Amino acid sequence: MRDVIDTDRMPGHCMECGVKYSVLIGVPMHPCPNCGACSEYFLRAEDDVKIEVNWHELRILAMWAERWAADQTEKDRLVMQRVVSFICGRINAQYPDWIGLTFSSEIAELRQEFGDVEVKGFNEDKEANNSE
Ligand SMILES: [Zn+2]
Repeated sequence: MRDVIDTDRMPGHCMECGVKYSVLIGVPMHPCPNCGACSEYFLRAEDDVKIEVNWHELRILAMWAERWAADQTEKDRLVMQRVVSFICGRINAQYPDWIGLTFSSEIAELRQEFGDVEVKGFNEDKEANNSE
C-alpha cells in the first residue's frame, strides 16, 4: 500500500502542550484541539530540526532567555516567561533525569526538597513552579 499524503493538511505540534496535530492549509485560525492554545502556538513539523548540543550549553541559553523575559514589563513578562517555560518543559521531558534547564525549574526542585524557598532579585515564573 502506498503512503497517503494529505496535501491539504500541514502536520505540526502545539508549543504549549506538545500535542501533535495537523491543520488545514490556508485556514488562518486553528487553535490546539487539546489545550485550545491560539494558532500562533502551532509549530510546523517541517521546521523541526535535530541538533547536537551539550546540556549545559542549552541550560545557559535557557537561563539567559528566562532572565531576559523576567526583566521585561509585567504584561510582556508573563507571556515571554510562559513561552520559555513551554519550550524548556518539552525539552526537559525528553531528558527527565537531567537537571532542569531553567532557574525556575531549579527553584521548583529546591521547594520539593526543602519546602518554601524565597527568591529575591528575580521575577520568578511562579506558574512554571506551580506555586501560585
Ligand atoms: Zn496545545
